[in-house]
Amino acid sequence: MKDLYSVLGVSKDAEPATIKKAFKTLARKFHPDVNKASEATERFKEITAAYEVLGDEQKRAFYDEFGEASLRSGFDANQARAYKNMGGGFGGGGAPGGGQGYPFPGGAGGGFGFEDLFSGLFTRGAGGAAGAGARAPGGRSQRAGPDVEAQVEIPFLDAVRGAELPLQVRRPAPCGTCKGEGGKGRRTCAACGGAGRRPLRQFGLNALVQCEECGGGGVVYAEECETCGGTGRIRDTVILNVRIPAGVESGQTLRLRGQGGEGSGGGPAGDFLLTIKVQDHPLLRRKGKDLEMDLPVRLAEAIGGAAVEVPTPTGRVRVKVPPGSGNGRRLRVAGRGVQDRAVPGDLYLVLRPVLPATTDEETVALAEQLDGRGPEADVRAHLEL
Ligand SMILES: [Zn+2]
Ligand SMILES: [Zn+2]
Repeated sequence: MKDLYSVLGVSKDAEPATIKKAFKTLARKFHPDVNKASEATERFKEITAAYEVLGDEQKRAFYDEFGEASLRSGFDANQARAYKNMGGGFGGGGAPGGGQGYPFPGGAGGGFGFEDLFSGLFTRGAGGAAGAGARAPGGRSQRAGPDVEAQVEIPFLDAVRGAELPLQVRRPAPCGTCKGEGGKGRRTCAACGGAGRRPLRQFGLNALVQCEECGGGGVVYAEECETCGGTGRIRDTVILNVRIPAGVESGQTLRLRGQGGEGSGGGPAGDFLLTIKVQDHPLLRRKGKDLEMDLPVRLAEAIGGAAVEVPTPTGRVRVKVPPGSGNGRRLRVAGRGVQDRAVPGDLYLVLRPVLPATTDEETVALAEQLDGRGPEADVRAHLEL
């Protein structure tokens, strides 16, 4: 199946107005009543089917997220999402961009820039709420704002310490120019009688397709709003300051209430759902609330003991390396792990004595002297299988 965006010739991040305009232009051009070319009917079918999805905020968001799988009958977004979070893929991958799963920006470790927060944003309709727009007595529709979903990759230490991150997001909002009305001189679409769909003989008996005059909305305007193309909605770019709680883990979703798409006609705003991916760290490993880091020590420090300074997520500390510390010995630094507000985790330092880099005769002779000093002269005595 062809990618629906390419059927309408629009980009994946196109505004609702652009999509509607593309549909109307193409639908008029290929309408079987007008266009008698043999392939016109087939094209018209494709165009109306594509717009049926892309012209609807919720269907479009599901398509963006799950691709072609979202178009199957009986598709359940929650089930699909749970499956996806478990690492499953979707068959028939028609998702624009070819990918199923989240488009997390790559490049873990090291440089993390503001721009890393910008990618992979899309919106999702707010369950039944968005679809169930009730008409207010004034003729203006009251709609709840849709939920907005996004994924963000955060640096390891932000997950350990908690952070506040500025996140640039696009979320649906009522058009400011027409205040969500779509234009001036609103009247019922004559072509479809306000139904938004009309029968088309060529598709077989009783086939209904999106009305190409009103784009499925059932209304037209004497003066259509230029900003939103009569859809009454735009995609607004805003910066949200997102509080990342300490201890957040990859795959967790934060729900920011009322930060999603703005409602129209007095409807409530949707929520903002942010799925977190935590980047790896080149030095630190995390096990629940505890952290682990290798700590290189010189031979003299390992054998004789020492006090060494080490960095931790909450500043440098001095740590006592006990005398006779072998490779792999673990030292606990209390409270320097994940900065959970109730009980912070600990940081474990794994001692890694470093051999001298030189292999000259003198060094080898010194090492032989050292080897002869303890009871461990035969270090492989215990190796019996
Ligand atoms: Zn407008
Ligand atoms: Zn119409």
